Amino acid sequence: MYAPPGVKISKNFPIPDMQKAWVLGDPGQLIYKEKAIPVPGKAEVLVRIDAVAICATDLEVIYHGPPALIEGGLPFNKNWTPGHEYMGTVAALGPGVDEFAIGDRVTVEIHAGCGQCKRCREGMYTSCHNYGMNYGDVNKGHRANGFTTEGGFCEYAINNINTMVKVADDMSDEEATLVVTAGTAMYGLTELGGLLAGESVVVTGPGPIGLLGVGVAKALGANPVILTGTRDNRLEIGKKLGADHVINVRNEEAVAGVKRILGGKGADYVLECSAATNALNEAMLMVNRGGKICLAAFPHEKVPVDVANIVRNNIYVYGIRGEGKSATHRAQAFMEQKRFDAKLIHTHTFELKDLPEAIRYAKDRIDDAIKVVVKMPSAVAAKKMAAE
Ligand SMILES: [Zn+2]
Ligand SMILES: [Zn+2]
Repeated sequence: MYAPPGVKISKNFPIPDMQKAWVLGDPGQLIYKEKAIPVPGKAEVLVRIDAVAICATDLEVIYHGPPALIEGGLPFNKNWTPGHEYMGTVAALGPGVDEFAIGDRVTVEIHAGCGQCKRCREGMYTSCHNYGMNYGDVNKGHRANGFTTEGGFCEYAINNINTMVKVADDMSDEEATLVVTAGTAMYGLTELGGLLAGESVVVTGPGPIGLLGVGVAKALGANPVILTGTRDNRLEIGKKLGADHVINVRNEEAVAGVKRILGGKGADYVLECSAATNALNEAMLMVNRGGKICLAAFPHEKVPVDVANIVRNNIYVYGIRGEGKSATHRAQAFMEQKRFDAKLIHTHTFELKDLPEAIRYAKDRIDDAIKVVVKMPSAVAAKKMAAE
């Protein structure tokens, strides 16, 4: 059995020596195998993963590599496990950890940061200056699950205690995997200004971050919240999450639609989540003078931008990476208070062994998939036992 020296374990929570894990081979190739269970160090715990959601960034990593950075390079054929939007149960404590107890249900954010660079000291640990420097003789201790360190498409993973958020008892495993997505929207909106009560917000693109961005903006008091997109079924979910108006850009040009609703001057804030080529140029026409744009998505190609328009109108443009400044904790607080129903974006569930099929659903948006969640064998078995 698993009993590394210096690590606190519980006989009520037995841990095997080996786990099932998916590892990345060549681009697009995932291999299901046995892998050793890792050992938590100082300020770290071992989490038994109960559920993990698939994110568009996972697809980027699995098929192309970046932004994953393993041992200073591409993540392929390194016996490395991707996946980052997971939740689970604390299974073992590293030396000195008393912030969590074995058995605590937690969801995790991705970036631990190095904790010592300028940005980490400012709470901007998703922009850590020592990103990926966590190996060999350049070890700065930076961690980003499923990007620079081992991820969550497996049964057990190490997490720094700074990346863990306790989840409410009545929050399902599936919902808890969505906290980090809401946390990203929360980070973007709070970096834009934070006090959004009575401010108008346009969210462009009803993907997972955009849809939960609507929920978070509304919970922060924004009014009105406008959602733009091309798929009516997703715009309908946006309405349920709190959008006051939706614009299907197949029927009405997005900028004209925003100005129709807001009366010409435009919105105070735009949260861009569509990754469309012309999204920034459109966003600066949607926003009013002195307004703010947050880019939470980006197109793959380089795009020409109307810089003069930004300068003449004193428009602020922010790029955000991930979920800094403990935004995940604030998102969890909103979800615990049922300020919006994140479960509306969870569409499909698979078992760990069926990960490639789950990825196919997420990638090809089969059956209108939005968030696809993978459950672990242990969690599936526990549910079966409870039902019998
Ligand atoms: Zn993600
Ligand atoms: Zn750092």
